[in-house]
Amino acid sequence: MARLFLISNRVAVPGAGGHPGGLEVALKATLRKHTCVWLGWSGEVNEKPRTRTIERGDNSYILADLRPEDFDEYYNGFANRVLWPIFHYRLDLAEFSRRDLSGYLRVNERFAEELARLLEPDDIVWVHDYHLIPLAKALRARGLNNRIGFFLHIPLPPPEILTAMPNHERLIPLLGDYDLVGFQTHGDAANFARYLAKELGTPSHISLRLGSGDRAMRIGTFPVGIETREFTRLARRAVKTDFVRRVIASVPGLLMIGVDRLDYSKGIPLRLEAYERFLAANPQWHGKVTYLQITPKSRSTIKEYSEIEVAVNSAAGRINGTYSEANWAPVRYVNRPYSRTALSGMYAAARVGLVTPMRDGMNLVAKEYIAAQDPDDPGVLILSRFAGAADECREALLVNPYDPDAVAAAIARAMAMSKSERKARHAELYAALLRHDISKWGDRFLKALSPLDKKGALSDFISPLGSAAVTGSAATDPERPPATRQ
Ligand code: ADP
Repeated sequence: MARLFLISNRVAVPGAGGHPGGLEVALKATLRKHTCVWLGWSGEVNEKPRTRTIERGDNSYILADLRPEDFDEYYNGFANRVLWPIFHYRLDLAEFSRRDLSGYLRVNERFAEELARLLEPDDIVWVHDYHLIPLAKALRARGLNNRIGFFLHIPLPPPEILTAMPNHERLIPLLGDYDLVGFQTHGDAANFARYLAKELGTPSHISLRLGSGDRAMRIGTFPVGIETREFTRLARRAVKTDFVRRVIASVPGLLMIGVDRLDYSKGIPLRLEAYERFLAANPQWHGKVTYLQITPKSRSTIKEYSEIEVAVNSAAGRINGTYSEANWAPVRYVNRPYSRTALSGMYAAARVGLVTPMRDGMNLVAKEYIAAQDPDDPGVLILSRFAGAADECREALLVNPYDPDAVAAAIARAMAMSKSERKARHAELYAALLRHDISKWGDRFLKALSPLDKKGALSDFISPLGSAAVTGSAATDPERPPATRQ
């Protein structure tokens, strides 16, 4: 039977401890249904890198160490200092170096080398995220013709931004060596189609034919979800735990919650500014609302990340210094991770979920907040229109995170919202979550990645949000539906 090869920067070995990462949750159902080989970086850096294989049931996990220069150039350099900021629309933060690009290409070659030794002709390969854009090209160069899919978990900016990335013309067209390239939203997919149209002359409104021979690359939209019902059950249990009860008892009035990695894409400083403006404009809420911001540190060795740490600390301190009373502090800023159970209980206890990234591929915190609510007395989600989740979460209070006054007004509106409006909005939001539950995500992607039917048509491929897919089989047919829609 054909195996499924999963390739991502990090590999989550079951039972290895730590919190389950987003990718592990997303791939849980897929790992159960298929015989999988999951390959990626072990997380270790060694002068003499090793590769270990761990077997768990039918699945194998192949963990490759990185050399110190690989870690610096591929991971810290090109992935974190170039692709992450630029794909999040932050050209101003990108630090391009040719050395990092060659380190990035080198590590992709190394993963391709490991894979090429293992792949049988009918194995399927599913590559995850921005660390591994060149992998299909490196595999094709080794003569491999397997079905290879790619999913980008983060946003893809419009060509006006992407083309400012030095060497974009060496990198982005490499996606043409995949059979399927998946995005979180139609906007991201449309940006990619526009890039190809602009840079390679591919007619974006008709179809795409990249790659070689008979292969046609397709583009699809596959929004990542969460295990909705399971998270709801978890939250229901969690609110009864001593820990969550103590949190609730310690808060005078209503709780508002924010949960994010400490990353500039999450918009935490401007969010604090919005809260400050809310407090300034609404003295009637003083003493009656507490904003709990839970923010574990990430990537602290990078300058931009330590700078944001200072900015958030000082904003939280300033707000508390201005507004605190002996029995009330308006902000609780917590710098540590919590278990999923504890988080779900705190979401459930919060009247408002404040999720205002400046740009985000999807944002699972928004979905977890919705899933955790009691449908009979739910809280209100305030959500940035620039999070991928905003496409589905139309009944959230959608805000522009660059406009602290508007976010402050949304906080006031959320705090005062009637129970009937909260219930109506929550019912719609919950239904949207179920439509894109993560249990079906892998199936959707793999179905789209499976070979075209005999006529070479896409009769069975409709991407989850209903957009047309694109194929080379109709490259000259102007009657074909648009490649992607916003
Ligand atoms: P990103 O992948 O950019 O960090 P997402 O919102 O998509 O953002 O996913 C974040 C995930 O990390 C969520 O599942 C969330 O529950 C988890 N998480 C975030 N902060 C914490 C924390 N303090 N403790 C435990 N888990 C956290």
